[in-house]
Amino acid sequence: MKRSTVMTRTTLALAVLFLAAGWLAAQTPPDKFLGHKVGEDRKLADYAQIKAYFEKLAQESPKVKLFTIGESVLKKPMIMAAISTPENLAKIDRWKEITRKLRDPRVTPVDEARKLAKEGKAIVLITCSLHATEVAASQMSMELAYDLVTGRTFFDAGKILSEVIVLLVPTHNPDGNQMVVDWYRKYVGTQYEGGGMPWLYHHYAGHDNNRDWYMFNLPETRAVTKVLYHDWLPQIHVDEHQMGSTGARLFVPPFMDPPLPNIQPMVWRGVNLVGTEMGYDLQKHGLSGVVNGRSYTAWWIGACDDTSWLHNVIGVLSEAASVRSATPVNIEPNEISDAYYEKRMDFVDPWPGGWWRLRDIVDYELVLSKSMIKTAGLHKEDLLFNFYQMYKTSIEKVERGQPYAFVIPARQRDYPTMLKMLEVLQMGGVEIHQAKADFIAGGRFYNAGSFVIRTSQPYKTYAWALLEKQKYPDMRQYPGGPPVPPYDNAAWTLPLQMGVACDEVEEPFEAKLEKIGAVPYPKSPAKQGQGAYVLLNSQVNASYAVAFALLKDKAEMWRTSSTVKAKGVDIPAGSFLVKNSPDVQKALPALLDKHHLAVLDLDDIADVPKAALKSPRIGLFQSWRGNMDEGWTRYVFDDVGVPYKTLHNEDIKGTKEKKADLKADYDVIVFADENANTIKGTRPGAAPGGAAAESSMARMFRQSSMPPEYEGGIGQEGVDALKAFVEKGGILVALNGASDFAISEFGAPARNALTGVDRTKFFCPTSILRLLVDNETPIGYGMPKEAAAMFVNSLAFSTSPPSFDWDRKVVAAYPEDEVLLSGWLLGEEYLARRAAVVDTKWKAGRIILIGVRCQNRAQSHGTYKFLLNALLYPGM
Ligand SMILES: [Zn+2]
Repeated sequence: MKRSTVMTRTTLALAVLFLAAGWLAAQTPPDKFLGHKVGEDRKLADYAQIKAYFEKLAQESPKVKLFTIGESVLKKPMIMAAISTPENLAKIDRWKEITRKLRDPRVTPVDEARKLAKEGKAIVLITCSLHATEVAASQMSMELAYDLVTGRTFFDAGKILSEVIVLLVPTHNPDGNQMVVDWYRKYVGTQYEGGGMPWLYHHYAGHDNNRDWYMFNLPETRAVTKVLYHDWLPQIHVDEHQMGSTGARLFVPPFMDPPLPNIQPMVWRGVNLVGTEMGYDLQKHGLSGVVNGRSYTAWWIGACDDTSWLHNVIGVLSEAASVRSATPVNIEPNEISDAYYEKRMDFVDPWPGGWWRLRDIVDYELVLSKSMIKTAGLHKEDLLFNFYQMYKTSIEKVERGQPYAFVIPARQRDYPTMLKMLEVLQMGGVEIHQAKADFIAGGRFYNAGSFVIRTSQPYKTYAWALLEKQKYPDMRQYPGGPPVPPYDNAAWTLPLQMGVACDEVEEPFEAKLEKIGAVPYPKSPAKQGQGAYVLLNSQVNASYAVAFALLKDKAEMWRTSSTVKAKGVDIPAGSFLVKNSPDVQKALPALLDKHHLAVLDLDDIADVPKAALKSPRIGLFQSWRGNMDEGWTRYVFDDVGVPYKTLHNEDIKGTKEKKADLKADYDVIVFADENANTIKGTRPGAAPGGAAAESSMARMFRQSSMPPEYEGGIGQEGVDALKAFVEKGGILVALNGASDFAISEFGAPARNALTGVDRTKFFCPTSILRLLVDNETPIGYGMPKEAAAMFVNSLAFSTSPPSFDWDRKVVAAYPEDEVLLSGWLLGEEYLARRAAVVDTKWKAGRIILIGVRCQNRAQSHGTYKFLLNALLYPGM
């Protein structure tokens, strides 16, 4: 009996010990799960493994809760882990409620805010590997989660996590992660190991997925935006990237000049606090080569982390030196770039050179991520109260130059596109009101139904920055010297890009306003589409979407060739006439409903000047150089419902077995913005979109050698095949830089007047410029006479009177003065009177030169029509 009691006690004690040990051991370390060390040379976990690891950890640890926050373009679930104490995770709704209250001082008085800041928890967000080739952070995320739940930190994890909710998105781009890892595994051990992929690492956007943070075209952007500004409202957001290999080992903030003017100083103080603490902790761990205050500016460019600044969130970017995917690099000391060789006050401990491995990046990122969590925990109460204070300032303080409101008149050339703009603003958290009665503001009359965006609102900075015109500071390398280029965009003004009328009103005004919930899309009139014919207005982008859908169903259609008066209304040239057949009658109501469109009914079209329209067979060229502009063009085509086939080098130049006859299969072939030499394949190409649009990291990948099937371009055979295509009546569309290809290979009667002009004389980094448009000519159909266009490494054509088998028509040109609408322009005179869009005719076909980015990043809806008109050329 006694003996058995002893036995029982021993068993019990053992069981307790075993349980305790078992509880710890039950949290599987990522190394054990993956079968290799995180960041080991030549080993990468793919998205399926990363997701499975987080699922396992969430099962094993009460400190991890897993959420699905959205779905990628290619239908992969996007996951986010919340990591904190079990007690905190049990009360998530309360923490969210607190941050929501702190965001709105209109409903939360100061005393309550102080109490809430004491009670609440700091919420921090870490997003990893948005740029999928910058793969280290996605690998690191697993170890970070494991370290946090098992207390492997350089601070008291229990204490810090009791004050902090860590939100961790292991990869912001699951599709891209899978592509990159698959590609790496395929070529590891060959001469192509660690080289770049021939296609974009995001189905549409590639590297530009970090320029989508105000237009929200991509579902991945929308998923994280919901976390940031609608659901969790974190106070700190860290986005982890990689850069080139031969400079600093790591960038963390402070950022460099210029700052976007409207952002609150407290945001920068918070950013600097977190960044400086990171530098301190990295140094503590003996990690050298950390730089701040260089390369990365505080001017917003529509990127992930910097979107936070405009929402009073501490947005931090980290950029680590790259390896070749998971293949280490050895950097000789003399290969380190000069700027990162000497000690400087913003670079106090240079890295000496040597081997640099994926694991090194993981180590740096583990420390910087943990440092941010530590800082959030130590400053929790202050952080939450200042979060509140910043919104209070947003609402109550009138900043220098702050308008009272922006008014969007109810009368618009393209009403559905205006509603789309409102939807985009709402996604970014902007509050919008609608007038219930006519009113006067800034001396102008506005109809009831107009929309008003007041600047006095929690996300003032964001709303203001999107709606105002940007003035980029004139920064020079030295007085009178060459300009210092912006990191990317100098301008983005949404109403200009989208062709939406929007007025800035300085002074307060009275109006009967009501805050809108969902964007009020109008019901399409029930009794429309009853006539023998229907007319779709060419001013409205949605008309093109409906036209493509009807053409696909073989509707009989025309485009009007001049302005038509119908029922007392002037309908502009290029509008779509549709014979209202039984099939059309069946399809039309749903289409009009989907696109929020109204049509005009006509019974007789005998007197209407018009040209017939056919469903075009469209090809879109895709080089093996991962061209982002091609990706965005594809996005626009899918969005509008344009039918197309992707064409690669072989499809254009033909093969031994099949000689190319492009006209047999296509009516229109589109070349997105790309260097002429890249298209032809005469030498390794320059970056599509210019060097500014590409990180040195991306450049490193692009320049590495590719398997032979992806080398070269369309060659002379391709050029000859395209010439035959145009001769027989095909339409070749050259977007932006591709115009150089059309000019040099075809001898189109135009040249780029900006070629060879020195930067000190002419400089225009991504800005919005004024164009004068001939909207009675097919490529200008539906456009306003004066339009705003995105100039991105763009062209200015000098046309010339052509020889016998050519003709040319200038569709859009720069005015004589006041060319700049938003951004930065030096040397306006180089653009004055030059053409931006030219419709050239050669033999039976056409070459359309569109020298601006008319579909830039699927954001510039206001100039989509240049491209869509080229696809729907009447009388083709
Ligand atoms: Zn990046």
